[in-house]
Amino acid sequence: MSEHALRKQLEFYRDLGFEELFVRPSEAEQERGAEDPKADAAPGAEAPVQRAPAPAAASDERPAPAPPASDASSEQQPSPLQVIRDDMGDCTRCRLHKGRKTIVFGSGNPNAKLVFIGEGPGADEDAQGLPFVGRAGQLLTRMIDGTCERIGLPIRRPDVYICNVVKCRPPENRAPELDEMEICGQFLFRQVKAIQPKAICVLGGTAAKALLRPGVGITKLRGTWTEWGGIRVMPTYHPSYLLRGYNPEGKRQAFEDLKEVFTYVYK
Ligand code: SF4
Repeated sequence: MSEHALRKQLEFYRDLGFEELFVRPSEAEQERGAEDPKADAAPGAEAPVQRAPAPAAASDERPAPAPPASDASSEQQPSPLQVIRDDMGDCTRCRLHKGRKTIVFGSGNPNAKLVFIGEGPGADEDAQGLPFVGRAGQLLTRMIDGTCERIGLPIRRPDVYICNVVKCRPPENRAPELDEMEICGQFLFRQVKAIQPKAICVLGGTAAKALLRPGVGITKLRGTWTEWGGIRVMPTYHPSYLLRGYNPEGKRQAFEDLKEVFTYVYK
């Protein structure tokens, strides 16, 4: 990209309200990152902005019992995920805001070792403001809980973190378009960097495309580890694909993928 085009692109994101940007690593940089385990940031990414702690609340004249130290610090400073959610605000940065009822930011353990990334909210998620709560979400819960139970892990859905590439429901449940994923992806990348999981499991071809730009479909991609920003990534099928008709082979493969992921992360 020419310097002029790069400047224009940066101005575009600045006008959208982004103060920091994550840039997807090139293939060569991905390979270098794989050789260097300390390469935890997406190569080419700007350093995350260091945010000042929120000012302490004005002191009450009456002496109050001092709260435990940990409570005091959590009151003073919003969590990294809350900072991102606050930055997002009532977001209108892409056209998807027009049809949404709710922004679906993400749910689960903010310190999770494993993050699941789907495509975007559907009708149930849009109504409830939570990711993966419809039929596909219920299947994902069964896949997570069932896999862990079978391999003897005390991990359940609330122990992982789940979010989507885009946070607003695309109209008619269409796939998010490239520019929508590029813009909202900035929030996704920040979420992942804030959580710092040991691994990511991307669900379906669209999420894989947003994160990895693989150039091949999910059927070829699934089941093989790859990497994003120094974090191992396992692509597998989206649960909604597994719900389409009789698909025992797809389910078996997805179970194998999840078994691999949970074994790597938690054993
Ligand atoms: S999809 Fe993301 S970038 Fe687009 S309006 Fe919603 S929150 Fe903003």
